Amino acid sequence: MKIFKFGGASVKDVKGVKNIVKVLEQVGYNDILIVLSAMGKMTNAFEKIADAYFYKKESLTSSVEEVRTYHYQILAALFKDENHEIFSELEKLFVQLTSFMIQNKIRDFNFVYDQIVSLAELISTKIVSHYLNEVGIENTWIDVRDCIKTNDEYREAKVNWKETEKAITTKIKPQNLYITQGFIAKNSKGNTTTLGREGSDYSASIFANSLNADSLTIWKDVKGVLNADPRYFSATQLLQQISYTEAIELAFYGASVIHPKTLQPLQTKEIPLYVKSFVNPENEGTTVTRGVNLLPEIPCFIVKKNQILLSISSLDFSFIVEQNISEIFELLHNFDMKVSLIQNSAISFSVCMDDKFNQFESLYNTLTSKFKIEYYKGVSLYTIRHFNSKAIKEIEYNSKILLKQSTKETIQMVVQ
Ligand code: ADP
Ligand code: ASP
Ligand code: MG
Repeated sequence: MKIFKFGGASVKDVKGVKNIVKVLEQVGYNDILIVLSAMGKMTNAFEKIADAYFYKKESLTSSVEEVRTYHYQILAALFKDENHEIFSELEKLFVQLTSFMIQNKIRDFNFVYDQIVSLAELISTKIVSHYLNEVGIENTWIDVRDCIKTNDEYREAKVNWKETEKAITTKIKPQNLYITQGFIAKNSKGNTTTLGREGSDYSASIFANSLNADSLTIWKDVKGVLNADPRYFSATQLLQQISYTEAIELAFYGASVIHPKTLQPLQTKEIPLYVKSFVNPENEGTTVTRGVNLLPEIPCFIVKKNQILLSISSLDFSFIVEQNISEIFELLHNFDMKVSLIQNSAISFSVCMDDKFNQFESLYNTLTSKFKIEYYKGVSLYTIRHFNSKAIKEIEYNSKILLKQSTKETIQMVVQ
């Protein structure tokens, strides 16, 4: 069996959905399980609904209207028969959303978030599954919550591998075409959970691992994994081959083309990962396997925007010692900061981090009672794997470097 993953960019509009048909016709669709994300930026749109509902904002009605309009426009263009069952199925999902918002009594934002945001994937898979059936590509729609089982950590749920593998192998049979949701799952209480933003790649890799799949193909709006994000760098090159370990490093440092958790489940079973273009499916793209570390062997650039560089020193200029560091880390953890770089000197300790959940102000207020704090907001963290002097100069040119750190293979620079 092969696993395909299509992301939001691939189904952001009518043309995108139709293009999936083209891809499947070109590469074949027997014995395949498709993991699909929400359409376009619909996860962000559903996040707005969750936020407006939870914090009782006036924008709730318009936020719901936004997602309705977006999906119904796509539906109207794909299904000419207004009596097609997809219309009532979609309506059922919207009724589910409204009933949840009326009946819910649980005041836990992360729980509420998962129950609401998960609808985006349920909707996209319903639409695409029906459309494929409509054009003659027969497939079975699967509720992924019957397959991927997790703990109760809403928004960052951890997979229960044993239960998941059992459920997947019972449910999925070879020689069929299945379509299911990325990103979402279910806990033992029967509530919906999510695996973290951009988690659909990971969902696909969970299926690949559990089914001992022949391969996982992630279909993208780029040629494959490039040596830099084309949104920020002009002359990018395709990486034809990458080892699992190199891919893990690239994803870890923030190459957002692959979700970091995707690689390990593939590596343990040596399942090849192909990253290919959904525009030109016949092109080779990138292969991630065991073996050749990086082909071609060129510097790879990764940028994380909108970081915070925090510099902490003691109020009395004494040394920052183990005890302070452990206290600082506990606070970073408590305030959900995602740390991407650390550096310490005798009297100060610096961290570059991502304030994913907007909690910096509270962290700052807590830290200032004990330490002297300096910080820069909105800085960028550049990482270059396999750097050379030319690559470093490219980043240093015209920018102010606030911090630099290097190991044998990797250099990181915090840039203002
Ligand atoms: P999807 O909706 O399919 O999940 P994403 O937008 O999450 O797609 O990922 C694709 C995007 O990842 C590309 O359009 C590109 O801008 C970005 N990207 C970041 N780093 C890289 C890289 N090293 N190689 C290719 N694309 C990259
Ligand atoms: N739809 C989810 C998100 O936008 C998961 C994914 O696309 O991978 O984060
Ligand atoms: Mg993505």
